[in-house]
Amino acid sequence: MSDFEITARNEVRRYAKRGKYDRATIDPILDEALVCHVGFALDGQPYVIPTIHARMDEQLLVHGLKGGRMLEHINAGNPVCVTVTLLDGLVMARTVFNHSMNYRSAVLFCRGATIEDPAQKLAALERLTEHVARGRWADARQPNEKELKATTIIALEIESASAKIRTGAPGDDGEDLEFPVWAGVIPLPVVPQAGERDPKQTADYPVPDYVADYRR
Ligand SMILES: Cc1cc2nc3c(=O)[nH]c(=O)nc-3n(C[C@H](O)[C@H](O)[C@H](O)COP(=O)(O)OP(=O)(O)OC[C@H]3O[C@@H](n4cnc5c(N)ncnc54)[C@H](O)[C@@H]3O)c2cc1C
Repeated sequence: MSDFEITARNEVRRYAKRGKYDRATIDPILDEALVCHVGFALDGQPYVIPTIHARMDEQLLVHGLKGGRMLEHINAGNPVCVTVTLLDGLVMARTVFNHSMNYRSAVLFCRGATIEDPAQKLAALERLTEHVARGRWADARQPNEKELKATTIIALEIESASAKIRTGAPGDDGEDLEFPVWAGVIPLPVVPQAGERDPKQTADYPVPDYVADYRR
């Protein structure tokens, strides 16, 4: 598993110390986040589209209904920039200027192509499903031929990437430290609530562990 070379494209210049380029930092961000944003330019117009993703080894998977513009654009060989953001906390500084957020984010520069092989496509769908809720693939009805045909899955090669991480307290200093207002961090963990049974479900099926104990 290789780390990413630092180039003009991925080098974090603003707060350079917050930049990371190793898979050991970037992969866990991709694995924890439930959504990414795929950015691409079409006829000079930038689009940024939110979507589900999953990492499969060194590739990133995205999927959707066949014929989707974003997926067709990628499949035509065009580059995309994928961003993933985990918001960890709100940084409440003494000064308005120093307010910030604690986060772990990743920016990936990718190209990709559709997975055509049916077995690989199924494996990719399993990965996407398991990324959202580990254990769900085995419990849910498997995709049938019609559903598989209607689904496009793209495997993105990550050509270049960076992570940027902010942690810790507000950056106030000097005489501002004496300013008489509360300062600190409001942590924002993802705290799932109890699953809500589909009202159309009349049978009393047991709540699976991955629902009852859902965690990111
Ligand atoms: C939740 C959140 C809130 C933020 N709020 C603000 C805000 O209000 N104002 C603001 O200016 N910035 C904010 N940032 C930081 C922002 O993402 C950029 O890092 C910053 O604006 C500098 O952008 P740039 O293109 O000038 O950076 P540069 O350092 O010039 O970017 C060069 C390269 O560094 C990498 N890079 C830059 N930013 C990131 C990143 N966040 N994650 C991973 N790689 C990155 C990319 O590969 C990029 O191509 C926020 C980030 C997060 C995650």
